[in-house]
Amino acid sequence: MKTNYDTIIIGGGPAGMMAAVASSYYGHKTLMLEKNKKLGKKLSMTGGGRCNVTNNGTLEEILENIPHGGKFLYSTFAQFDNHDIIAFFEDNGTPLKIEDHGRVFPTTDKSQTIISALQAKMVEQGVTIATNSEVLSTTKADDGNFLVKTADTTFTSRKLIVTTGGKSYPSTGSTGYGHDIARHFKLKVTDLKPAESPLTTDFPHKTLQGISLREITLTINNHPITHDLLFTHFGLSGPAALRASTFVTGNGTDDVTLDFLPTVSEDELSDKFEELRDKSVKNVAKLLLQERLAEFLITTAGIDLDAKVKQISVKKLTELFHLMKSFPIKVTGTMSLAKSFVTAGGVDLSEIKPKTLMSKTVENLHFAGEVLDINAHTGGYNITSALATGWVAGIS
Ligand SMILES: Cc1cc2nc3c(=O)[nH]c(=O)nc-3n(C[C@H](O)[C@H](O)[C@H](O)COP(=O)(O)OP(=O)(O)OC[C@H]3O[C@@H](n4cnc5c(N)ncnc54)[C@H](O)[C@@H]3O)c2cc1C
Repeated sequence: MKTNYDTIIIGGGPAGMMAAVASSYYGHKTLMLEKNKKLGKKLSMTGGGRCNVTNNGTLEEILENIPHGGKFLYSTFAQFDNHDIIAFFEDNGTPLKIEDHGRVFPTTDKSQTIISALQAKMVEQGVTIATNSEVLSTTKADDGNFLVKTADTTFTSRKLIVTTGGKSYPSTGSTGYGHDIARHFKLKVTDLKPAESPLTTDFPHKTLQGISLREITLTINNHPITHDLLFTHFGLSGPAALRASTFVTGNGTDDVTLDFLPTVSEDELSDKFEELRDKSVKNVAKLLLQERLAEFLITTAGIDLDAKVKQISVKKLTELFHLMKSFPIKVTGTMSLAKSFVTAGGVDLSEIKPKTLMSKTVENLHFAGEVLDINAHTGGYNITSALATGWVAGIS
């Protein structure tokens, strides 16, 4: 294998793969170094293994869903945005489809389709891909070239793009090496914290574990979030819980309620039950909610599952409607950084030129993707940021 390149990219996630595509598109001799035996390990886990490759929203919607670093990305998205991502895949023989909340997936419902499309483009454009190649040290020689060392080889390049990701889910390879590179070159790295984190709760987990709900409203400390929710063995996951994690104080005072029927008012519930007053409360509730959840709420309200609606006092029924519309849940905290979907914090954006993603102080050193101090909601927004910044770092 050659050891001298125009551009070396460290990290084969979405940011790195797109940076390699962009760099080689402009004729640069490009090397991709990835420590795993395959590219895109974390990407393969997104969207439940189907790869939520981007989001179809407007620029405003995309920016709204990037709670940290969105403004910095204006220049990036002016050069390459979510619609360019969609066009890139479709033009390269990978049809996509749009699902709820604008989430975009390959029509195959398989992450590997997306990874293979990026990899095929890299190969077509002559990128050298070295997997099983962990970078152990990165320095800059007096002649301005970067020296990038793996266990058995020292590679050199004029330009270096760091796309090593954040520090969550370290088993995917994202262990924070890029932050070490930044610190080595005296760039600031902000504190790394969990973002998009599942919530731990003080709750009878086993009763509801495995129930997956669509479009409920979770309200945390007066912030309503309407999205899907999953009850797990430790608490709550799914997009509504992940988004709520930003607002968790973890000091035991968080006020969290779940509205299982956000499109139905308590008055409408009352009318429905009145209309079907000869039926059992369980059978009426089952028309509105999943059976296990319906039974749990009826029992919590102290109502006999088989009692007919007409046998139940107005007070008890009102209590049941209240539980359906505003179920209180005690959130005890969020999961650790390692178990969160995204890392908040990273290479300080004040160190980086927004138009080129190059360091302001180290010539030809670029960063892209989650290694930067940018974090977004799940739903394709992090991947959009990774692919778009990867492209910009690659072409500049
Ligand atoms: C379970 C899960 C689900 C998610 N779902 C979504 C979702 O639905 N929507 C969304 O937008 N985001 C989602 N995310 C977040 C998203 O996957 C990441 O933001 C995105 O993958 C970041 O891309 P990246 O290229 O910057 O970094 P990564 O994908 O983390 O890739 C970095 C790569 O660098 C390599 N590397 C690190 N150090 C070295 C080294 N020293 N030498 C060589 N290689 C190295 C790693 O092995 C890794 O392959 C999810 C994350 C997880 C964990």
